[in-house]
Amino acid sequence: MLSRAATSTFPAATHGSGHADAAATLTAALHTAGQVATVLLVVTIAVGFYLLSCLIWPFGKCRRCKGAGKFKSPFGKAYRHCGKCDGSGLRVRVGRHVVNHIRAVRGAGQNSTSKGSK
Ligand SMILES: [Zn+2]
Repeated sequence: MLSRAATSTFPAATHGSGHADAAATLTAALHTAGQVATVLLVVTIAVGFYLLSCLIWPFGKCRRCKGAGKFKSPFGKAYRHCGKCDGSGLRVRVGRHVVNHIRAVRGAGQNSTSKGSK
């Protein structure tokens, strides 16, 4: 019913280019919608795997010191700690920030509405 109405309005919108043309346009649109759905599904699965990996491996290398945690002086054996990671050489991954945010929001909801179940 709905698709039939859409097909009948297509020639009017394009000023009489033919019924077969409108049907082809509708078919192309449906085909594109299928492709969009497939791409969305693939992206959703990829994001899911990324968040899962961030759940298991929350840290990455610090980008400033490349995971070393310190910078050596050009002469001698002196060094200083990396200011960005405080000498740990670690960086919290972007996906882990997302996971932490989701957990915080869920925890806040549970704390405000549930009856003290720990
Ligand atoms: Zn660092």
